[in-house]
Amino acid sequence: MKFDYLVVGAGFYGSICAHELRKAGKNVCVIDSRNHIGGNCHTTQKDDINLHTYGPHIFHTSNKEVWDWINQFANFNNFRLEVVANFKGEIFPLPFNMWTFNKMWGVTTPEQAQDIIMSQSEGITTPQNLEEQAIQLVGRDIYEKLIKGYTIKQWRKHPRELPASIIKRLPVRFTYNNNYFNETYQGIPIGGYTQIFNQLLDGIEVKLSTDLFSARLPDHDRMIYTGPIDRFFDYKYGALEYKTIRFEHKLIKTENFQGCSCMTFTDEATAHTRIIEHKHFENSSSPVTWISHEYPIKYIPGKTEPYYPVNDSLNTEIYANYKAAADKLGQKFHFGGRLAEYKYYDMHRVIESALSYVKSEIRNTT
Ligand code: FAD
Repeated sequence: MKFDYLVVGAGFYGSICAHELRKAGKNVCVIDSRNHIGGNCHTTQKDDINLHTYGPHIFHTSNKEVWDWINQFANFNNFRLEVVANFKGEIFPLPFNMWTFNKMWGVTTPEQAQDIIMSQSEGITTPQNLEEQAIQLVGRDIYEKLIKGYTIKQWRKHPRELPASIIKRLPVRFTYNNNYFNETYQGIPIGGYTQIFNQLLDGIEVKLSTDLFSARLPDHDRMIYTGPIDRFFDYKYGALEYKTIRFEHKLIKTENFQGCSCMTFTDEATAHTRIIEHKHFENSSSPVTWISHEYPIKYIPGKTEPYYPVNDSLNTEIYANYKAAADKLGQKFHFGGRLAEYKYYDMHRVIESALSYVKSEIRNTT
């Protein structure tokens, strides 16, 4: 049998395309090199807790259309991410807001906080690197306790060696508001994310543990590729850079391990950057708990997982070459999603992008 479409990748981008194409009467086959669907949004049930396999995924959007679309497939709770920072046992709320400033300096008004930041900004007017940018935005104390060590662990470089641009959009609020995201609609799907993918892929042929580059492929007319674009072209313009993480999931036989879903460890000496305690996403009453340590590791193309694209000028230039090569392949190939577009896409952006592409594809092919 010949499929109209071979979709490579069962994450949000691929699964949405497959779902909508099937609804439009096309024959679709989906493959994924992993042994599960859902891509990085995959969750798995353990001891009545939905564990986020590839790091915590909090849904957030201000796009009502996307919110209504996703709510067809799951009910969402009203979870709001409030990150707790741990600096050698001292606790601070993130993102930086009046609660953080109060804990750091004992101040209670925005004016007092702004005065301290100004007095600590060391006269920096044109920051030349990440360290200077951070000090200008939030002062020396916050930089030393909450930014410096964490950045060294994440980037494996000193903040003085990193561009100021990385931290330009650092959220700093002079209000008592610990909500990590600003969007109108936020939450976690009750029962986890995998149920959404089960519904999207219902009735579609899905081949797991099947890699595009090593498996025998079903006959097909068109391809939608959501894997790394550099891998597709055998790295001919060089490998794109990613930041990546190793997750270590662990069962702990206690009811409540850290009292919050996400604790960030901001000192340099603690090897992990975060501990996630999954039961807090859905208030599970399980008598045990599952936690995940996150360790930043070196990205090795083809060997470690590509998570966060590094969209600096060098990688942007490399990506442009791949994009031009992809465009040359013509209408029968489409490259979409986080890896194929080398773009840091949150879930709502991937949904917007996949729905928009597939709508035009259906219009053009029927
Ligand atoms: P993916 O989910 O990566 O899916 C691509 C799929 O393609 C994968 O399953 C992969 O196995 C498969 N594939 C790749 N190459 C091949 C091949 N050669 N053959 C077969 N299959 C292949 N977004 C939010 O909105 N909120 C959050 O809180 C949030 N937290 C995140 C935390 C982390 C640690 C990470 C990494 C991302 C987070 N995101 C979050 C972003 C979210 O994960 C992405 O928006 C979403 O997963 C992108 O979907 P996708 O389909 O483009 O890619």
